[in-house]
Amino acid sequence: MSKTISRRDFLAQTGKTGVLLAGGTAVLSELLDTPEAKAQATPKAFEYQPKPLPFAYNALDGISEQTNKYHHDTHYTGYVRKRNEIEQKLTTVDRTAANANFSEFGELKRRETFNANGQILHELYWDILGGDGKPAGEVVDKLKTEFGSYDNWVADFKACAKAALGWALLVYDPFDGRLHNYSGDTHNQGGVWGSIPLIPIDVFEHAYYHDNGPDRAKYIEAFLRNLKWSEIEKRYQKVKNLKW
Ligand code: FE
Repeated sequence: MSKTISRRDFLAQTGKTGVLLAGGTAVLSELLDTPEAKAQATPKAFEYQPKPLPFAYNALDGISEQTNKYHHDTHYTGYVRKRNEIEQKLTTVDRTAANANFSEFGELKRRETFNANGQILHELYWDILGGDGKPAGEVVDKLKTEFGSYDNWVADFKACAKAALGWALLVYDPFDGRLHNYSGDTHNQGGVWGSIPLIPIDVFEHAYYHDNGPDRAKYIEAFLRNLKWSEIEKRYQKVKNLKW
């Protein structure tokens, strides 16, 4: 990008700051210092609304009403609130100070993915609970193909849930068309880009300690007993033909 083009002319020609990313960094930083460019780099805040629990607080077998209240009303709702707070702060934060060591912008972007994934994973977690735990559907046939048997999948899923600090997930990966079990230590770590979560289990202590103390295995059994396979199958049918 040549500096012979004036800032005003350049902005007028490109129409949006995103195009500047293709240009030289010296020109970019210089342009971002202008009020005009800062205004164009500022996203509009979106306000997310917490979703209600899709079943009664006392509807699950082995996961208590009190745990569901703590988990949904405090933890999940907290992620949604913090995501909204971050969205708001991102509208005014100084982007010209962004750097990899420390910047307010950088920390907001790191916590943005933590809280966004906290919202998404918890909403899916409850969407696929409230069932009778009886595996059914084409997704189960696919699990048998991928893991050799349904029991093999369960054993691997349980091991992933025991190994993680935060989450274990069954996902569909449109890159290879396969189902995988993954472990993640926190909301924004352990995912594989492009993979679509089908069954996430939350194994942070807040999901089971009130009911089971340190007996995480007992909670994993309860989680599996409450799986709603019709919802899992519905989601699998939507994504099974996706190929990136
Ligand atoms: Fe949680």
